[in-house]
Amino acid sequence: MIKITLPDGSVREYAEGTTALEIARSISEGLARKVLAAQVNGKVWDATRPINSDSSLKLLTWDDNDGKSTFWHSSAHLLAEAVESIYPGVKFWVGPAIDNGFYYDMDLGGRQLTEDDLRVLEKKMNELARENNYYIRKDISKADAVHYFQDKGDEYKLDLLQGLQDGDITFYSQGKFTDLCRGPHIPATSLIKAIKLTNVSGAFWKGDEKNKMLTRVYGVSFPNQKQLDEYLLMLEEAKKRDHRKLGKELGIFTFDDEVGPGLPLWMPNGAVIIEELEKLAKQTEDKAGYKRVVTPHLAKESLYLTSGHLPYYADGMFPPMEMDGTKYYLKAMNCPHHHKIFAAESRSYRELPLRLAEYGTCYRYEQSGELFGLMRVRCLHMNDAHIYCTREQFFEEFKAVNDMYLKYFKIFGIDKYVMRFSLHDPAKLGEKYINEPELWLETEALVRDALVRTKTPFVEVAGEGAFYGPKIDVQIWSAIGREFTLATNQVDFAQGSRFKLSFTNKDNHPETPLIIHRAPLGTHERFIGFLLEHYAGKFPLWLAPVQVKILPISDKFQGYAQTILETLKNDDIRAEVDDRSEKIGKKIRDTELMKVPYMLIIGEKEVNEQKISVRRQGKGDGGSLALQEFLDTIRTEIRERKSE
Ligand SMILES: [Zn+2]
Ligand SMILES: [Zn+2]
Repeated sequence: MIKITLPDGSVREYAEGTTALEIARSISEGLARKVLAAQVNGKVWDATRPINSDSSLKLLTWDDNDGKSTFWHSSAHLLAEAVESIYPGVKFWVGPAIDNGFYYDMDLGGRQLTEDDLRVLEKKMNELARENNYYIRKDISKADAVHYFQDKGDEYKLDLLQGLQDGDITFYSQGKFTDLCRGPHIPATSLIKAIKLTNVSGAFWKGDEKNKMLTRVYGVSFPNQKQLDEYLLMLEEAKKRDHRKLGKELGIFTFDDEVGPGLPLWMPNGAVIIEELEKLAKQTEDKAGYKRVVTPHLAKESLYLTSGHLPYYADGMFPPMEMDGTKYYLKAMNCPHHHKIFAAESRSYRELPLRLAEYGTCYRYEQSGELFGLMRVRCLHMNDAHIYCTREQFFEEFKAVNDMYLKYFKIFGIDKYVMRFSLHDPAKLGEKYINEPELWLETEALVRDALVRTKTPFVEVAGEGAFYGPKIDVQIWSAIGREFTLATNQVDFAQGSRFKLSFTNKDNHPETPLIIHRAPLGTHERFIGFLLEHYAGKFPLWLAPVQVKILPISDKFQGYAQTILETLKNDDIRAEVDDRSEKIGKKIRDTELMKVPYMLIIGEKEVNEQKISVRRQGKGDGGSLALQEFLDTIRTEIRERKSE
């Protein structure tokens, strides 16, 4: 018998060689039907693979990222099976799961796939899925594996085999298809109920443009049709809300070749949003006891040698410029500058926690192929701050930071979020992680304790911590359910000593502070990109670049329109008059396209009654109001930063 420890800590006994799927079945049939893979002693395994020793076990379903990626990778095998049955002689390279589905790279001997071909392949995949074939794992010797693919004439798989060790090689078969793969896979093809092949493109073998161009077929699959339908709908909506498209239509940002790739130019409407976000951050941080600082965009090489950004992060920085025989770098992060502000005066425990904030401009070298609208840029404005505190203060500070995130989520109507808590990997101490095993464990425990005590939803991820301490990535979902990584919150126990930062503690001894790095609003670039999609460009009143548009029905009413404009401006409302000689219908349509929250329509009746007719974006006619009444409503809406 073997002992199986489940995630809730309970221990059950099973016969040696029992599979995760059988264990699931012993718990409930319903659960067994949902199991896609298993995590056995921390490793992702086939649910059908025999377990031969005492183990910890987590059953993985669609709700687990590893379950989902096993599902999608298995769908790639199914795609390959379909391709092979329709195009015999096809050769395959690799077929991984990706963020949203899967792809398989293949050599079709020069054949181009059309949309119609994709539909035929989809149909074949559905047929094969219904055959309910099992994914069968088989250990194979290197010689036999080489033999198999020599017979098949697939030089790509032979190339893969070259890099593999004998004794480490497995084949997986389902139906008539066999692949070289380390797995894992889902138990059977019939779990794949809905399939969409989304795209076909060229991909150089091994990503090297000197190599042959292979065909890459992309797809996505789900355990039921409804999920696929919802996903396709979401994609369609995402296309309409594409921040690059909306950013251009609404005059938010632009790029220019001569300025350079990845260097956004913020247009007047974008600058308004930036200013409003900074106002929000300043108000929030003032209340939370932060102090604002301003630091230069560049610094000497030695600063980054002290911080360790050089050489570890050199790839992510712009190349240096030489001045007076010294190398200077554009800053990729604000931390070193802030540390120098901490170090500029002698500090006592009475001054801690010291919270230094700055909307800092950073420059990062991203590969040109990686640049993407506002999501991946080379110049970014970060809602940054560094909190210097004692160990005893850590919990309260961490909690306050956490509360600030939640406060912002509420303002922006972000209902779904999760904190990804990234830990160090003990095997890579001194290499990828600063070599302080005890400090790592201690700090990780501090953070975990704070997350648990604040009842924050989080997942732990091994081996993704920052160089100098555990890290929390905040993932949020937009209104249409797309996931974004927004910001990080990091605990740092290394930079303090690298910079020889210290404060005089209660016992009159020097002590190194802990540092919290936090950026709840992320960067303007990524956050506004997110907001464009989240709001579909319809910014709430407080953020809207133009809040009120005044539309006189004809030139006769310009005078009254100007009086209203002045009143609104005196009240710091961002308002404009549409004084073009267009028909009112066109003026309304154009204002709606620019997604201006309020329209005030001025005609004969309004002038006579000294009132205004109000139209709310997306809601239509709001009736006739006295100007003062309207002002009172929108003042509250703006002050409270209401979403609607
Ligand atoms: Zn596989
Ligand atoms: Zn920092």
